[in-house]
Amino acid sequence: MKRAFKYRFYPTDAQAAELSRTFGCVRKVYNMALAARTEAWARQERVNYNQTSAMLTEWKKTEELAYLNDVSSVPLQQTLRHLQAAFANFFAKRAKYPRFKVKKKSRASAEYTSSAFRFRDGRLTLAKMADPLDVVWSRPLPDGASPTTVTVSRDSAGRWFVSLLCEDPRVKRLAAADTAVGIDVGLDHLLTLSTGEKIANPRHERRDRERLAKAQRKLSRKAKGDGANQRKARRKVAKIHARIADRRRDVLHKLTTRLVRENQTLVIEDLTVRNMVKNRSLARAISDAAWAEFRSMLEYKAGWYGRDVVAVDRFFPSSKLCSTCGTLQSEMPLSVRTWTCVSCGTAHDRDVNAAKNLLAAGLAVSVCGAGVRPQRRTPGGQSAVKQKTPRREP
Ligand SMILES: [Zn+2]
Repeated sequence: MKRAFKYRFYPTDAQAAELSRTFGCVRKVYNMALAARTEAWARQERVNYNQTSAMLTEWKKTEELAYLNDVSSVPLQQTLRHLQAAFANFFAKRAKYPRFKVKKKSRASAEYTSSAFRFRDGRLTLAKMADPLDVVWSRPLPDGASPTTVTVSRDSAGRWFVSLLCEDPRVKRLAAADTAVGIDVGLDHLLTLSTGEKIANPRHERRDRERLAKAQRKLSRKAKGDGANQRKARRKVAKIHARIADRRRDVLHKLTTRLVRENQTLVIEDLTVRNMVKNRSLARAISDAAWAEFRSMLEYKAGWYGRDVVAVDRFFPSSKLCSTCGTLQSEMPLSVRTWTCVSCGTAHDRDVNAAKNLLAAGLAVSVCGAGVRPQRRTPGGQSAVKQKTPRREP
């Protein structure tokens, strides 16, 4: 099984300059190819990867874009492949239409395949660089590992990371089990399981959120001020963001490993649509980010261990449906945390009830195949259920 191993590294000034230049070229090529594909899309035509690759060759010949020749060509080709994958996901209705990369918002990264890096005696050297990277090998690679892909990135807090995709022979499929769990996402709690277990947000997250909100207010006041102070304020916001993300990632790694080991079928809510909602609260934004990360970890680990992840469409009214008798309640404001079913009298915890409903809907899919709608007594809004195949670790 292939898996990614991510480490921090400290570039020399020359390496940092080379990588920043590469990130800029990657972004430029991605955006130009996206623009070309979007124009074609408007004419109801499709442009494929090979065509964008040919465009890149032409761009490099022009005076204006000659600087694209100064960086390794591999990350530029790779970003065209990523764009191809983004369009494939869009056409298969798994994702929204690809967006342009914005310097200040998008994660800066460049992907190198084996022709563009050398990994020897535990030293990693990238194309166009004389010296190996100063990597902090914080955990061991599998014995004799030879990376097939190396991804370099820089986060908004200015930290540099390198991720190595390697075959890991230690990951083995688990024996099939007959256990299943429904998992609901929340604001008060990180997650609620259909078993009734509630998993709290990481410690300190509440205080970090408050600090983040304060730092963001300060940044927006500095928006029209002088450059240096604004930069400082932006760096501060990025640092708090990074701290929240790091703590959360730790919690999510432990949690997803445990859930995947314990359960054969894991049913989650498909939140892709909700992410389009604008003007979200800070808590909601962080919760959505956590959910996206949780889902991606759950899916690739399920792939490793031979487990099934089922995503249930969000239009399915999981909070309003009594998990005991199937009656649909008419009103269910967000403030209601516990309620009693008018029909059968069962007292419900809102989140546990939702997780139980997700589980039932997900099991209906995995037993009867995709496209089956969950049973319900009272007619209500449309619901649809779809099964997702696990993705490879990004
Ligand atoms: Zn009921």
